Amino acid sequence: MTLAHISGYPRIGGGRELKHAVEAYWRGEIDREALESTGRELRRNHWQVQREAGLDLITVGDFAFYDHVLNVSTMLGAVPPRFGAEEEVAAGEVDLDTTFRMARGRAPSGEPAAACEMTKYFDTNYHYLVPELYVGQRFQLASNRLFDEVAEARDAGHPVKVVLTGPLTWLWLAKEKGDEAFDRLSLLDAVLPVYGEILARLADQGVTWVQLDEPALVQDLPREWKQAFESAYNTLRRAPVKLMVASYFGGLGDNLQLAVSLPVDGLHIDVVRDPEQLTTVIDNLPGYKVLSVGAIDGRNIWRADLAVLRERLASARMRLGERLWVAPSCSLLHVPVDLDAETDLDEELRSWFAFARQKLDETVTLARLLGNRATAEDRVRLEAATAALDARRESPRIHKPAVAERLARIGEGDTHRAGAYPERARQQRRALDLPLFPTTTIGSFPQTGEIRAARRAFKAGELGRDDYEARMRDEIADAVVRQERLGIDMLVHGEAERNDMVEYFGEQLDGYVFTRYGWVQSYGSRCVKPPVIVGDVARPAAMTVRWSEYAQTLTDRPMKGMLTGPVTMLQWSFVRDDQPRSTTCRQIALALRDEVADLEAAGIPAIQIDEPALREGLPLRRGEWQAYLDWAVACFRLTAAVARDETQIHTHMCYSEFNDIIAAIAALDADVITIETSRSDMELLDVFQDFAYPNEIGPGVYDIHSPNIPQVDWMVQLMEKAAERIPAERLWVNPDCGLKTRGWAEVEPALANMVEVARELRRRH
Ligand code: GLN
Ligand code: ZN
Repeated sequence: MTLAHISGYPRIGGGRELKHAVEAYWRGEIDREALESTGRELRRNHWQVQREAGLDLITVGDFAFYDHVLNVSTMLGAVPPRFGAEEEVAAGEVDLDTTFRMARGRAPSGEPAAACEMTKYFDTNYHYLVPELYVGQRFQLASNRLFDEVAEARDAGHPVKVVLTGPLTWLWLAKEKGDEAFDRLSLLDAVLPVYGEILARLADQGVTWVQLDEPALVQDLPREWKQAFESAYNTLRRAPVKLMVASYFGGLGDNLQLAVSLPVDGLHIDVVRDPEQLTTVIDNLPGYKVLSVGAIDGRNIWRADLAVLRERLASARMRLGERLWVAPSCSLLHVPVDLDAETDLDEELRSWFAFARQKLDETVTLARLLGNRATAEDRVRLEAATAALDARRESPRIHKPAVAERLARIGEGDTHRAGAYPERARQQRRALDLPLFPTTTIGSFPQTGEIRAARRAFKAGELGRDDYEARMRDEIADAVVRQERLGIDMLVHGEAERNDMVEYFGEQLDGYVFTRYGWVQSYGSRCVKPPVIVGDVARPAAMTVRWSEYAQTLTDRPMKGMLTGPVTMLQWSFVRDDQPRSTTCRQIALALRDEVADLEAAGIPAIQIDEPALREGLPLRRGEWQAYLDWAVACFRLTAAVARDETQIHTHMCYSEFNDIIAAIAALDADVITIETSRSDMELLDVFQDFAYPNEIGPGVYDIHSPNIPQVDWMVQLMEKAAERIPAERLWVNPDCGLKTRGWAEVEPALANMVEVARELRRRH
């Protein structure tokens, strides 16, 4: 037989039960026991679903009330001192409220403290809590949750496999803290005994297989880290369990030899992201080792082509026999729970998709097909998949010849503005007549309760389109009045009509589809519902012009149009898998290009194209960065370059790490870029200075995430630091991101101070 298993199942529940329970607990509406009981219920369900689907092993260890990396940190007793949990750690049980305080700074019990940093998990949109490490830190087993969960699963009669973040990846994801510089790898020896103890405890519970997730193996590893992998697993091999080391999110690349030769009983590889590695891995795999092949896409919602996979894995099956296992490429945490809930999607679309629950069936069927155990049901699934995929390949919903033809006609010239920046700047100065240190904002103004209520009523059919649009126009008019009163130089319409910067555009573009319950955990209790790009993208009609045009009629000051850029539109969606991402991105760029042209024709003198997701699209391997940046930059330019020289193109990015991508940022050739800088004390402008960044910059002068009103002196000082690095004529004054999450009571005084800053700077310069 060929064994079927998974690396993890979505923990949030089909109805986002986990989110609701956790948030109710935080609000004090339910008690600890009620929360724990929801957790148990969800786990029981998820195991049952896996069992019923026919998986040979049921995965335990993928559950977390907040984050699975955080769970490992607490299990290792790695609780930063500010949370005052020394006694809990010493007693071997970190309290759940302590983990919540680490995650979000506060919990129903315990003293509030600064939360741990959160960041994206590899190239996913899942955020984990960064483990904090200190010189000489000691570790000890400090949570029994995992063992309790194993006991639950065994009591329910399941054949259990445990999954746990491996020691190297846990350290890889961690950060050194404290004043003393040190290398976190030096803590490996202190961490390993705790892993050893965990494995021994699991063995005592009767667990045979433990999967240690080591996705760090798909990244560029320094030599010391490679050596550490070897030595660590040489130590862990002594544990009385079988170990499976799991790699995913990419190919093993130059870590392949290292990975296949680790002294463990199994290796998991991702052949969705890197199909080519399969043969090489098998060629090099020691004869005693199990190979788990991740063949079902755990990162996307497309139905698997079972016939193709069976064929592709046939020789693997022949060479490995029973040593071949089959699985999704990575944890199913990254896809929505159950397609059956999507009753609003038409039959055709549904036949193309597979969510987590459907991926269990695909995994099991593939395993049974390969192991010659196929049932009648498996053969039905096989045929249904083939039929659906054949239809998808031919569907006119996906292939629009006009889009392909237009793409084919794009030439180098379409990605260049007519004039170079100095010439454009001259024309823009004449057209816009802005003062030195012009002030502007990033786009959105407070999304008030009334705005949201109006949109809900509109979507529910309780408010007619005309009434809804009139309400939005009132909001725009209000935003314009406020900005004029504040004395801001370049205005925005405020984005009242947008629920979300991707969804708003996706809903108006051909090729995008929205699900109803397609929630995926982003962090903690927060879930996102990414749209799906199913087919060729085209723009049937203008999307933003009427709003910007209306806003411009209300003022003599220049109005800035507001678009979400092509890379961000791609990055925050589930993307079709039947053509390169770069092709899909170029299609989006063309649609947005038409919007730029229409905005300009409607008299909008400046257009901002937001690309907050540009950086997060960077591949996990350094060697692939340039290729990505090349097409990403080209897509942005394709969107922007249709603008006449006197039309000012802005872009915005919400982060502050530009060191390694500054050349690409400059290559965007936006006339103005607004970025996050306030928290870095303007030091991040050093890289713009060193690179001799030629165009204009608006370094965010205050942090919109904070409710505090920024003070004038402080912002003036920041701008003076900026002016030491960038010539004053090329500096703008603006907040560091959009203001939609704030209230007007904070926004107005903050912006009033910001305008005062610009006035003071003009007096000085
Ligand atoms: N224009 C958007 C806004 O102001 C930008 C949001 C973002 O950068 N994420 O809300
Ligand atoms: Zn932003």
